[in-house]
Parts: sequence; C-alpha cells; structure tokens
Amino acid sequence: MERLDDLVAYIAEIVVQELQGTPGAPGGECTIPVEVSNRHCHLTRETFEVLYGKGKELTLLRELSQRGEFAAQETVTLVGPNMRSIEGVRILGPFRKFDQVELSFTDGFYLGMDLPVRLSGDVAGSAPITIVGPKGSVTLKEGAIRAMRHLHASPEEAKRLGLRDGEKIAIEVPGPIGVVFQNVTVRVSPNGRLAFHIDTDEANAAGVKRRGLGRIVRG
Ligand SMILES: [Zn+2]
Repeated sequence: MERLDDLVAYIAEIVVQELQGTPGAPGGECTIPVEVSNRHCHLTRETFEVLYGKGKELTLLRELSQRGEFAAQETVTLVGPNMRSIEGVRILGPFRKFDQVELSFTDGFYLGMDLPVRLSGDVAGSAPITIVGPKGSVTLKEGAIRAMRHLHASPEEAKRLGLRDGEKIAIEVPGPIGVVFQNVTVRVSPNGRLAFHIDTDEANAAGVKRRGLGRIVRG
C-alpha cells in the first residue's frame, strides 16, 4: 500500500506543480524528478553487527530510485552531544565501506551538532555522533554530515542533458514558494537514475512534500 500511496502523492504533486508552474521561467519544461531525502545512515557491516548482532542482515523495506540502493526495515537511534536523541532513523543498504549519517541542519540544531555540508562519501573530519541499536551502540569519531544537494544521472541521461560528472548547475523547483537551488553537483554513474536529491530543510523551503519536478537553470 505504501508504494501506491507514494505513486498517488507523486502524481498529485506533479499536477499541482504543473498548475502552479511559473510562466515564462527559464530553462524549459520541468522534467527533473525531485526526491526528498529524509535523515538516514549508511553503515559498514561491522558497525551494523555491533548495533544489531553478529550475522544479522539488512531486511528490504523498499527499493530506491538509484539502482541497487534500498531502504532497510532496520532503524537506529541517534544521540547528539547534548544527549538529545532522534529515533527511527532509517538505514539504507547495501552496506558501505564507511559509516555516514545524513542529517538536515534542523536535525543538527536539535542534536547540538555543527554539521559540515559534504557530498556523500566525503566524511573525513566530519562530525562525531553516537548510533544506538537494539544490541549495542557505536560512537563514530566522524561521519555525520548535511548532504550537499546533487543530481544523479546515468551516462545516457547526462549525455542527453549535456551534463558532465562533477559539474555544478542550478535547478529551479517552481511553485508558490519556489526556489532556485545553486551549486547542485552532477553525479553520473552507471547505476544512476535521473533524480535531484534535496534534504527536508530544502524541501520545506521550496514547498516540496515528498517528490516534485524541477528544471535545470544554467548560469
Ligand atoms: Zn542522492
């Protein structure tokens, strides 16, 4: 049912955005899917086994737009240096070679953390955080970031749109409280699928509920 609800919400969002679209805005039609990333973490198998027990595997909840990536049924509790906590934080699979916790600035304020803005994978020197699971807890020396907005694309999609891996572009998400997002990094990979990823703070600023549509605005 969750997937059907997702689809209905997605279609409603597109219809609303089309009806409320900004006439004459530059960049042509809105064809870039916008996806909102809620707070989540990527873990190594080792960290996960401390939290959930030796030999335990991630259980599929639902597949994500990027091929091979999935939301797991398992969640964790995050504890900040001010001893406040956020429960029910989703683990995304598959396991990675490093631990990474992606939070919004709002989450960071709540947990008493100063989050650096980083592209996924760039965790060196990022913020420490404590992760709690049903079987144990781990305090990471680094790994907590606010994910930098980015556009995923396959090599074919990048070619069609004239985009290069690593390039910075601007994407407009139109609407009554529309926003033009600057410094969007293009991430091209064979498993990539066209999707503009923003966090919940950015989504709230632009009035995007769960998904929407945007358009590339160059320069
Ligand atoms: Zn992403």
